[in-house]
Amino acid sequence: MSEAEARPSNFIRQIIEKDLAEGKHTSVQTRFPPEPNGYLHIGHAKSICLNFGVAQDYQGQCNLRFDDTNPEKEDLEYVDSIKTDVQWLGFQWAGDVHYSSDYFDELYGYAVELIEKGLAYVEELTPEQIREYRGTLTQPGKESPYRDRSIEENLALFEKMRNGEFKEGEACLRAKIDMASSFMVLRDPVLYRVRFAHHHQTGDKWCIYPMYDFTHCISDALENITHSLCTLEFQDNRRLYDWVLDNISIPCHPRQYEFSRLNLEYTVMSKRKLNQLVTEKLVEGWNDPRMPTISGLRRRGFTAASIREFCKRIGVTKQENMIEFGSLESCIRDDLNENAPRAMAVIDPVKVIIENFEASQTEVLNLANHPNKPEMGTREVPFTREIWIEREDFREEANKKYKRLVLGKEVRLRGAYVIKAERIEKDEQGQISTIYCSYDPETLGKNPADGRKVKGVIHWVSVDKGLPAEIRLYDRLFSVPNPAASDDFLSTINSESLVCKKGFVEASLAEAQPETGYQFERMGYFCADNQDSSSDALVFNRTVGLRDTWAKIEAS
Ligand code: ATP
Ligand code: MG
Repeated sequence: MSEAEARPSNFIRQIIEKDLAEGKHTSVQTRFPPEPNGYLHIGHAKSICLNFGVAQDYQGQCNLRFDDTNPEKEDLEYVDSIKTDVQWLGFQWAGDVHYSSDYFDELYGYAVELIEKGLAYVEELTPEQIREYRGTLTQPGKESPYRDRSIEENLALFEKMRNGEFKEGEACLRAKIDMASSFMVLRDPVLYRVRFAHHHQTGDKWCIYPMYDFTHCISDALENITHSLCTLEFQDNRRLYDWVLDNISIPCHPRQYEFSRLNLEYTVMSKRKLNQLVTEKLVEGWNDPRMPTISGLRRRGFTAASIREFCKRIGVTKQENMIEFGSLESCIRDDLNENAPRAMAVIDPVKVIIENFEASQTEVLNLANHPNKPEMGTREVPFTREIWIEREDFREEANKKYKRLVLGKEVRLRGAYVIKAERIEKDEQGQISTIYCSYDPETLGKNPADGRKVKGVIHWVSVDKGLPAEIRLYDRLFSVPNPAASDDFLSTINSESLVCKKGFVEASLAEAQPETGYQFERMGYFCADNQDSSSDALVFNRTVGLRDTWAKIEAS
C-alpha cells in the first residue's frame, strides 16, 4: 500500500486527484505560509500535515513561506522556531525558505500596474473615516472623495508614499472595486499602508508595506502554487484573491481552497492569546509543556509521530469543530504504550526498611524494558534493604479492594520479592516516616511456596541506588473546555496545571535523554525535560497519564 492510500482521503485530496487526472496540473505545488509573529501550535500542525502531506503523496513539493508583511509584530526568533518545528514534525520544504518580503519589488510593480489600469488609487481619508465609509453588512459603503483621482496623480502620490513623504495613516493605496459589494473585502480594500518600521528581512528599505490579501495571492502565483490551502475565515477573501490575480499580468492563477481550523478543548489557539500567556509570565515561555505549541508539546514528551497521527485522525473538512483534548492524549498514549521503555519512579516517597535483608547487600535484578517486547531488552535494577514506595501505596487499614501494601499484609514489589508490612513509625506530625517490612526470599519471580495468594504489585526505588528527581506533573492549562469563549480567558487558567514533586527514580534513568519517553510503572508516561534536566539534577515531565482520568471526571 502506498503512503497516499494509507492516509484517509478528504475533499482536498479529491480535488487534487481530479485536477491531476484531467491534466489541469501535472504536479502539485503547495505552501505553508506562517506569519512569524509567534510559535507554531497544534493547529498549525494540521495545516503543515495537510500541505506537506499532499505534496508528499502526489510527488509534488511544498514551500515554506514566511508571510512577513507586518514588521512590527514579527521577529527572527519566530522565524527560527518555525523552521525548527516544521523539521521536527518530519517535513522538509522544497529548496530555500521563501519570504513574502522577497517579492516586495514585484508587489510594488503590480500595485503600479493596477494604478495604471485605473484599478487602484491613493486614499487620504483617515483610518477612522475609511472605516466609516466602508458601511456595514446591511448598508453599502460610500465612495471616497479621492477615488476618482487621475492615474498620473495616483502614480505620483504612490511614489511619494514609497519615498516616505506621508506619515503613517496619512495615505494608503486602495483597490478600486465596489463600495456596494455584499463582500466587505471587495469594498475598495487597502493594498498598501505606510509603516516606518524596521523589517527583519528587508531592513529599512521600505516604509510602505503590502497588505496580506494583496501579498498572498501574488506570492502564491510567483511560486507557481497549484492549490493554496487555507482556513475557512479566508473564504470571502477568495473573491479578492481572484480579483487581484485576474487584474494583473501574471500568468499563473492558483486556486484557493478552505478547510476548517482545528480547535482543541481546554486550550487556546490564537497567537495573540498565547503571546499574552507568555508576556504576562503565566507560563514559562512559548515552549512551556502546558502550551499547545509544537515546542511545548515536544518538551512535554509528545513525539512527532503522535502529532502526525493526531492530524490524520481528525481529518480535513469544512465543518467547524472542537476536538476533545483526550483525542490528542490518546495518540501519544498509544505511541508510548507501544514504544516507551518501562522504568520505576516514586513520586511521593515513603521509606520502607526490609529488616531481614542484609544492610550490606545489593541484589541486582534484571527487569524487562517492555512487557510485550523482549527485543527491547532488559535493564539492571538494584534491590537493597531500604527502598522508597509511593505514599498512597500503603495504608494502615484497608478493605479487600485496596490491592497494595497494608499493615500486617503482603504485596509484591514489581520485579522483586513479596514483602509484608510489620510495623510503622510516625513523625511528630503524625505522618508515617518509615514502614518496617520483612521479605520472603523464596518469592523472586514466583508465588509463595505454601500457596498464599498475594494480589497487589507496587513499584519501588532503592534508597541507596536510586536518584533524586524533580517530577513535574502537568495537566490541562485551562479548567474549562472553551477558554476562548469566556470574557476573561486568563481567569480560567487551571491553578493545578503544574504540580512539582521531589521524588526518586531508578538509577538507569541517569542516562535518560530529553524528550525520550518512558513509562514510569503505574504512574504514567514521562520524559526528561529538554531545558532543565541534567545528569546531576534530573527533571522529568509527565507527558500524559496511563488512562484518561478527565473522561471520568467529566462523566461524573
Ligand atoms: P492567528 O489568527 O492566531 O494569528 P493565523 O491563522 O494568522 O493565526 P498563521 O501564522 O497565519 O496564523 O497561519 C499559518 C497557516 O496555518 C495558515 O494557512 C493558517 O490557516 C493555518 N492555521 C493557523 N491556525 C490553524 C488552526 N487552528 N487549524 C488549522 N490551520 C491553522
Ligand atoms: Mg495569519
